[in-house]
Amino acid sequence: MDAEIIAIGSELLLGVTIDTNSAYIARQLAAAGVNVYRKTVVGDNTERITAAIREALGRADLVICTGGLGPTLDDVTREAVAAAFDRPLEFHQALLDQIAARFAAMNRPMSESNRRQAYVPAGARIIPNPRGTAPAFLIEDERGTVIVLPGVPSEMRYLFETEVIPYLRNERGITTVILVRTLHAVGLGESVIGERIADLMQQANPTVGISAKRARYELRIGARAESHAEAEALITQTEAIIRERLGPYLLGEEELPVVVAQLLRQRKLTLALYEGMIQAPVLQALLAAPDIAAQLRGVEIHPLDRPADEQAASDLAAAGASAVADRWQSDLGLGVQPATFPNEQGFTAVAFALITPTGERRLTRPFDLRSSEGREFAGTAALDLLRRYLAEESE
Ligand code: ATP
Ligand code: MG
Repeated sequence: MDAEIIAIGSELLLGVTIDTNSAYIARQLAAAGVNVYRKTVVGDNTERITAAIREALGRADLVICTGGLGPTLDDVTREAVAAAFDRPLEFHQALLDQIAARFAAMNRPMSESNRRQAYVPAGARIIPNPRGTAPAFLIEDERGTVIVLPGVPSEMRYLFETEVIPYLRNERGITTVILVRTLHAVGLGESVIGERIADLMQQANPTVGISAKRARYELRIGARAESHAEAEALITQTEAIIRERLGPYLLGEEELPVVVAQLLRQRKLTLALYEGMIQAPVLQALLAAPDIAAQLRGVEIHPLDRPADEQAASDLAAAGASAVADRWQSDLGLGVQPATFPNEQGFTAVAFALITPTGERRLTRPFDLRSSEGREFAGTAALDLLRRYLAEESE
């Protein structure tokens, strides 16, 4: 089955609203094994919407529209779909009653314009929308099927999951399941990861893809099968191979800050940070873990106030880390201190020091601190130093 998506709304064409609905629908259809060959964005204009629907029906079996079902006169999707099927709009008292009941429940007066939302094209199958006032609907003829969903993303997603997916399974015989598992890796370059799993990245099912995010890597394993269990099994096999090839560089389904927070919690360890640069890259990175507050005792941000070469930076990072651990009585102190000047390529030596109850670990690596990306890389390196310590300790 081939499908097309039509997103309706002038705000989408103006770039005021980003068309996230089409992306969501496309992902859902791909997961159901339905091919999407084209997406269209069209403004709130009856003729143009009608034309877009006719054209899409000329190419695809299924057309999914989103947006333009609101009560105001500029929401013209209903009229346009009716025109594309050469049918009139029909009033449904039951729909008006539902809309009125919704307003009554919200203790708000229903306006006359809401009457518009009680009309759907003749012969359409109404899809009730418990999340909003505009009902969705499905309409078909020999050219194909058009499903019209509201534009409000939460309503659209709700109806997609509760109505469209069951429709595809029960009435269109779609049985394919696609599962995607995302794993995170850190500490190896993208090219190295790519080389180690090159063969997996060539295979058709499961597929394996990598994307890089500031020294953190996301590996997506996608499997297509006839059942959930079968897809799950395919993914698990591939994950085991990746784990073997990447060893300690593979984190799992959680991202680095979350993994660090979990390890700290499991080992009942507290942490204090010493940040030798105002942007506090380690704190920034760590804040992505929602529950870090219980483990993080304190942070000192203290930009360098005198020149420091690489060695001096390393000593300052260690001294800072041990000072904050003392001050806040934490088990661990993590310090970061860049040296004063970048080299000709723009890279600055950044020193990291981790003070633990039994010793210290140091690391110095160059980063381009002029950009926020470069600073994020530095934050990642610091967290990875901490993660490795915590992971080894718990072995
Ligand atoms: P309702 O029936 O609830 O009035 P509607 O079908 O009329 O919804 P619109 O009026 O087109 O939908 O849009 C409602 C809201 O949803 C707006 O805030 C709009 O920016 C947002 N929206 C509409 N289309 C999209 C889209 N394709 N992607 C993301 N957001 C969208
Ligand atoms: Mg609109």
